[in-house]
Amino acid sequence: MAQIWHVLGAGSLGGLWSARLFRVGVPLRIILRNPARLADYQAAGGLGLIENGQPYVYPVPAELPEATTLIERLLVACKAYDAEAAIAEVAPRLVKGSEILLLQNGLGSQQAIAARWPDSRCVFISSTEGAYRQDGFQIVHAGQGQNWLGEPAHRSPPSWLADLDAAGIPYTWTDGIMVKLWRKLAINCAINPLSVLHDCRNGDLLAHPEQLHRLCNELVELLQACDQGDAADGLEAEVLRVIEATANNYSSMHQDVRSGRRTEVSFLLGQACRTARHHGLQVPELCGLLEQLQAFLHQRGLPTD
Ligand code: NAP
Repeated sequence: MAQIWHVLGAGSLGGLWSARLFRVGVPLRIILRNPARLADYQAAGGLGLIENGQPYVYPVPAELPEATTLIERLLVACKAYDAEAAIAEVAPRLVKGSEILLLQNGLGSQQAIAARWPDSRCVFISSTEGAYRQDGFQIVHAGQGQNWLGEPAHRSPPSWLADLDAAGIPYTWTDGIMVKLWRKLAINCAINPLSVLHDCRNGDLLAHPEQLHRLCNELVELLQACDQGDAADGLEAEVLRVIEATANNYSSMHQDVRSGRRTEVSFLLGQACRTARHHGLQVPELCGLLEQLQAFLHQRGLPTD
C-alpha cells in the first residue's frame, strides 16, 4: 500500500502541496496545531485552492499533533523559525527511518532538524513556487516555479518522487541541494533587507549599485569560505537579473514587515553572518546591514530573530 504523507504546516506552500497530492489520490493527512484550528478547518470544509482564478475545495483529512497514528513521511511546511518546535510535537509518532521533507527557506533550521532526528532521512527542498493565504484555509497559487530536492549526503532518489509526478508538482532531484539553498540565501541577503530598509520595490534597488556590489563581494567570499564556490559563480550578475525580473514586486521580507509578520531573517542574513563568524571571515557590510535591519524590526515591534 502507498505510504501516507503527513503535512505539518498547512499554510501557503503546505496547502499547495497538499491540495495537489490529495486530488490525484495520494494518501495524505494534514496536521493542524490545535483543536481551534482543526474546528476552523472542519467548518471551512477543507483546503481551498485558487488556481488560474478557479476556486477548488479539497476535503483533505486533518488531525492534531497528538494523534496516535505513526508517521513515515512528514512534509514540514512551517516557517523556518517554527519548524523544529512543530516537529518536536509529533516526534513520538515518527517511525525509525522515517522521512522528513523540509520546505524551509534559508539555512540553519534544516541542519538543526537533521541533527536532532538522526534516525530520520531528511530531504531538503528549495522552492521557487509562489503561494499565499487568503482568509482561513484558502490558498492562492500565485507563481509557477520549481522545487529542487536533495540530501547533503547525496543518496539515491526516493521512490515517492512518483507521487510528485502524478500530482504535477514540478521538481528536480539534485546532488547540489546545498548549492541551491546557499545561492537562494545569498540572493535574498543582497535584495530583501535593502528593500525593507529603503521601503521600496525590488527595481528601486538599482539606485544603490555600490551597496549591492559591496554586499555581493562579501557574499561571494562567504560562499567560497564555506566550500560553496558554485553558488558564488556570477552572483552579482544574477542579483541584478533578479532585481530587473522582479522590478515591480515587493520582496517577501518587505511583505512580511508591511503585514506585521515575523520575518525569517535569522535563517537568511542572520545565518550568513553567523557562518562568516564561524569561518573567522570579516563581513562588515553584511553585519552592518543585519544590525540596521534588526533595529528597524525592533522599532516596529517585530522579532529581530
Ligand atoms: P505560511 O503560509 O505562514 O504557513 C506556515 C504554516 O505553518 C501555517 O499554516 C502555520 O499554522 C503552520 N504551523 C506553524 N507552527 C505549527 C505547529 N506547531 N503545528 C502545526 N502547524 C504549524 O508559510 P509559507 O509561506 O507556506 O512558508 C513556509 C516556508 O516555505 C517558509 O520557510 C517560506 O520561506 C518557504 N517558501 C514559501 C513560499 C511561498 O510562496 N509561500 C515560496 C518559497 C518558499 P497556522 O495557520 O495555525 O498559523
